[in-house]
Amino acid sequence: VAKNPGEAEFHQAVKEVLDSLRLVVEANEEEYRKNGLLERLVEPERVISFRVPWVDDQGRVQVNRGFRVQFNSAIGPYKGGLRFHPSVNQGIIKFLGFEQCFKNSLTGLPIGGGKGGADFDPKGKSDREVMAFCQSFMTELNKYIGADTDVPAGDIGVGAREIGFLFGQYKRIRGVYEGVLTGKGLTYGGSLARTEATGYGLIYLLDEMLKQNGKELAGKTVVVSGSGNVAIYATQKATQLGAKVVALSDSNGWIYDANGINLDVVREIKEVRRGRIKEYADAVPSSEYHEGKGIWSVKCDIALPCATQNELNLDDVKTLVANGCFAVAEGANMPTTREATEYLLENKIMFAPGKAANAGGVATSALEMTQNSMRLSWTFEEVDKKLQEIMVGIFSKMADAAKRYGVEGNYVAGANIAGFEKVVMAMNAQGIV
Ligand code: NDP
Repeated sequence: VAKNPGEAEFHQAVKEVLDSLRLVVEANEEEYRKNGLLERLVEPERVISFRVPWVDDQGRVQVNRGFRVQFNSAIGPYKGGLRFHPSVNQGIIKFLGFEQCFKNSLTGLPIGGGKGGADFDPKGKSDREVMAFCQSFMTELNKYIGADTDVPAGDIGVGAREIGFLFGQYKRIRGVYEGVLTGKGLTYGGSLARTEATGYGLIYLLDEMLKQNGKELAGKTVVVSGSGNVAIYATQKATQLGAKVVALSDSNGWIYDANGINLDVVREIKEVRRGRIKEYADAVPSSEYHEGKGIWSVKCDIALPCATQNELNLDDVKTLVANGCFAVAEGANMPTTREATEYLLENKIMFAPGKAANAGGVATSALEMTQNSMRLSWTFEEVDKKLQEIMVGIFSKMADAAKRYGVEGNYVAGANIAGFEKVVMAMNAQGIV
């Protein structure tokens, strides 16, 4: 804490991971002390922070702060998204980068861990302003990334539009047409099914977790928080598999539709008009809109937090459990607070942590990198099939690791242990670096 002051989310993520690795660490304590393994693991290989000046539509100069944290390259080039949100700071990017190392390891694909972003708020900005920001951001970032070194992608506030502007500027400066970013548009090297991948992958993993625990998704009532990329495609796949999603949210409020969310309406609002979730209630009069953060008071069987970190706290999970919720799977990164996670585990609620449950996005990004290197494009069905296999594989890795260490059913420990094991083996093989 003294070494990294003010990085609350980073401390939280490190503590959560190290706590659940206690059994592994105790078994290898002498070795880890000698080779400084844990100290190296929590220290990013590189932290880059830079000024991003750009000119707004009034002709005024705005200055934001950009970051790229290249956390660990033991198993492949750094890989992880860029987040544009006013809350972004070094501690948040470090927490996300740290988690990304284990998540990427769990996918079984050759990708290291990284994350980046800026405290820029794309909300309410014109397309020209967003382009000006992205071009300035990439003018600095391009020095540190490349198809074989570091391959960023989208995250909160960074979707297809932003990735396009970033890619265009990279190509213009570096003069190479290469798979340096993932989440690209389909006309310039993107992969089919990448847009859907995180939400779909979440549901594939959830489905497998339910099956392995004698339950099924069909007929269940589901609450999904957020209404961005992850939330929309989680809703779509859950609905396709026979579940009923009854609530969605954004940072202002939440909607409830007892008939099941009409996703066409949501996509028109969010993807076409870039509007607010509140507008759903205008389009679907039988639904309700509520201001504030009360979405977890909606009675459901399954809860899927898909908005942001620390959005699901102890009071929320008490309400969920009292209402009969029996499974929680994290679409967002670290949406559940530590106390809430402990409460869910103590109450034997099936709980799939984000680093496993939302790994479908980065896994499909790695498939995009493969297609770019091979200079070909797979069909939607091919990518989707690989995604399903990867998610089932992740479930079995985390379930197996939990069993090996005597904490069967604790997927938080299982995911951390399974992700950690591969990173550590690769780090040890490469010497003290
Ligand atoms: P989007 O920007 O598409 O959507 C984010 C959603 O969450 C919006 O509805 C937004 O509402 C809401 N939200 C964001 N910040 C807050 C906040 N502080 N309080 C309440 N609501 C908030 O992002 P994504 O869907 O891509 O990402 C959502 C989560 O999933 C993040 O944690 C991200 O790291 C994680 N993730 C995403 C992946 C991807 O492939 N996209 C991959 C793996 C993880 P509003 O519009 O009001 O801000």
